[in-house]
Amino acid sequence: MIKLIQRRCWILVGLIALQFSKLSYASIEAKLLDNSFVILQYHHVANDTPAVTSVTDEQFIQHLDLIEQLDMNVVDLADAIDKVRSGEPLPDKSVAITFDDGYKNIANQALPELVKRGWPATVFVNPGLLTQSPSYYLTWPELKHWSKQKITIANHGWLHDYWVRENAQNNHQWQQKIKQSITDTEQAIIQHIGYSRKLVAYPYGEYDTWLQNWLREQKLIAFGQQSGGVAGFSDFTALPRFPASGIYANEKTLTTKLLSRVLPVDYTQLPSPIVSTDNNPPSLSFKLLFDKTNQLNCFIGGKAEMVMEKLADNRFQIKANQSLDKGRSRYNCTMQSKEAGRFYWLSQSWLIED
Ligand SMILES: [Zn+2]
Repeated sequence: MIKLIQRRCWILVGLIALQFSKLSYASIEAKLLDNSFVILQYHHVANDTPAVTSVTDEQFIQHLDLIEQLDMNVVDLADAIDKVRSGEPLPDKSVAITFDDGYKNIANQALPELVKRGWPATVFVNPGLLTQSPSYYLTWPELKHWSKQKITIANHGWLHDYWVRENAQNNHQWQQKIKQSITDTEQAIIQHIGYSRKLVAYPYGEYDTWLQNWLREQKLIAFGQQSGGVAGFSDFTALPRFPASGIYANEKTLTTKLLSRVLPVDYTQLPSPIVSTDNNPPSLSFKLLFDKTNQLNCFIGGKAEMVMEKLADNRFQIKANQSLDKGRSRYNCTMQSKEAGRFYWLSQSWLIED
């Protein structure tokens, strides 16, 4: 009951915040910005797996050492989300660690190292795959073992299928298939682990509006693969995570991400990632919830450059100056905060259709 009242108060705080376009930096900083955390995303932890989705055991341990050197707090993902949503304080510089796909190699050194440090983590699994290839994926008895040591087992869909398709909005059969994949996985987690924390990682980080609406109805929290942190004004059906594998394993850039803050924007108002050919390049518009204190820089990987327009009422509109390539893409915006080395960060995923 207290939790419910807290949540209602928090929603009220959020609504009041959104009503005022010219909130002072100090008021929003205290109420919203400090209560945030970042999430790291890993896949393989091994020497012999695809470089783009891997870190070695040594690199992973270096990352944990870095987290310790930065004096960060490693938090349980579901607990941290509850705190952010209820307004209960979370220590500054909090980070949650996640692994996608449940590969067996994370049990070689990564999970034991986390357990040794007493740090929690979350592993997103595909029940249909782990029973098919028990030598490649952690099995249910293995997952049960780790679940007793602060490792949360969570939902990545039954078979790691694609969940986004053109016109899915009007395709009942397609929607049923995706819903089944998610609910079957929830049931398998409850059956084998004993409970579920109701966390879903989108396969390939891909999502669209109907799916987000359905997940919201189911009270499931969902995660993408775009950059950024989690705060009270986040969209809890499209939470960002910083990939930390491959080229993103670099400790210097990882430090910037670990120390990043969430650019204060109402994330539930950001557009669907799906972009049709006649809407390419897509336009992203958002309203900053406080007066801009520093230069806002927006960029995109690869060749395209951004055009940024400042509109009235603290609103910004950004757009690439040429069409984006087919497939997954992202716009990123950063702004220096008052603290040295700490940047506000916003990332928008795009999925460019054929
Ligand atoms: Zn995956």
